[in-house]
Amino acid sequence: MPSATTREAAVATVLDNARLATLAPGIPGLGTVDKAAVLIDGGRIAYAGARSELPRPPVGARVIDCAGRWITPGLVDCHTHLVWAGNRAREFELRLAGASYEEVARAGGGIVSSVTALRAADEAMLLRETLPRLDALLAEGATTVEVKSGYGLDLANEAKSLRVARRLAEERPVAIRTTFLGAHALPPEAAGDKDAYIARVTGEMLPAIAREGLADAVDAFCEGIAFSPSQAARVFDAARQLGLPVKLHADQLSNLNGAALAARYGALSADHLEHTDEEGAKAMAKAGTVAVILPGAFYFVRETRRPPIDLFRKHEVAMAVATDCNPGTSPLTSLLLAMNMAATLFRMTVEECIAGVTREAARALGLLGVTGTIEAGKHADLAIWDIESPAELVYRMGFNPLHARVWRGQCPG
Ligand SMILES: [Zn+2]
Repeated sequence: MPSATTREAAVATVLDNARLATLAPGIPGLGTVDKAAVLIDGGRIAYAGARSELPRPPVGARVIDCAGRWITPGLVDCHTHLVWAGNRAREFELRLAGASYEEVARAGGGIVSSVTALRAADEAMLLRETLPRLDALLAEGATTVEVKSGYGLDLANEAKSLRVARRLAEERPVAIRTTFLGAHALPPEAAGDKDAYIARVTGEMLPAIAREGLADAVDAFCEGIAFSPSQAARVFDAARQLGLPVKLHADQLSNLNGAALAARYGALSADHLEHTDEEGAKAMAKAGTVAVILPGAFYFVRETRRPPIDLFRKHEVAMAVATDCNPGTSPLTSLLLAMNMAATLFRMTVEECIAGVTREAARALGLLGVTGTIEAGKHADLAIWDIESPAELVYRMGFNPLHARVWRGQCPG
């Protein structure tokens, strides 16, 4: 189990003698406060700021001396495909030995292998295989994790994936947001008929999943090897009718104007974006659609075209950073490493990286009102770090300086 325990969240707690990176909007940089304290009451932040102005804590409040440690918002992984069965290490090995995509597919690899494995697994087995990945994220201070379906590709198996995703939040102290990604790939039984499959996604799968309350959002993979913009738009139309927000895997391998499509539907986020052009960036800025940057996939498949970070800066598009944790193209369970990659590969700044896994990631999930910054009134979702400066979170590789994780005010003893 990660560091947070089931200690009564109802006990008021003061995290005293800390340094804060609040990420509060409107404050330049990371919104840092030296000589700071946080008062937590009822699982929420009652006060965060200078120690000298700390209100008198309720009688019986616990006081934890943070010994000058840094506190950031709990990390938010806003793009994962965490629920899968088996792994694709053999495929990785074959590719390293020079096998082509066809050869990998003939050896039983590729996304179809993940679909076959997920369909064969029951919920208990899927949960068992997924929890270690979730635990790895939590061990680095994640307090909110988005989880997509997309390896079931029929109603029963997509629903099974999303039920397992919901179960994660019962098994561990973490907030889980689920996303229905039925339009991820074409299942083998569709025999190449993408339009007929999209009709099943919009007419059968999505309404049933919405009825069961299994999805907080709807996503689609818009790409030559997946679904066209007009097919993705049909998924978005169906989501809109059900009142569900949308997101899009957009412009990863080619520019199909996916970013602009997402913006047209007021999407929470457009994700990947290596091939997005200036029109796409402008449209996203206007719609308030967050750019989710996924350096793990870029690294793992050895892409060469970088997302247009300068265009996002120029047009003030909010940028989040996520793991894209998935078995085929980003078997990454570290937001710390994702930040390092975003900085090293894409030249994102320390502030952009840290904001990208906290405030902007919360925004990409529509949760900025309740988490993602250290501000009074929000959930007490925090990460306490053994570091001298926030830049260390981005600078180091393969080292975890988390001292403690706080979820909804539940502090380690
Ligand atoms: Zn993805």
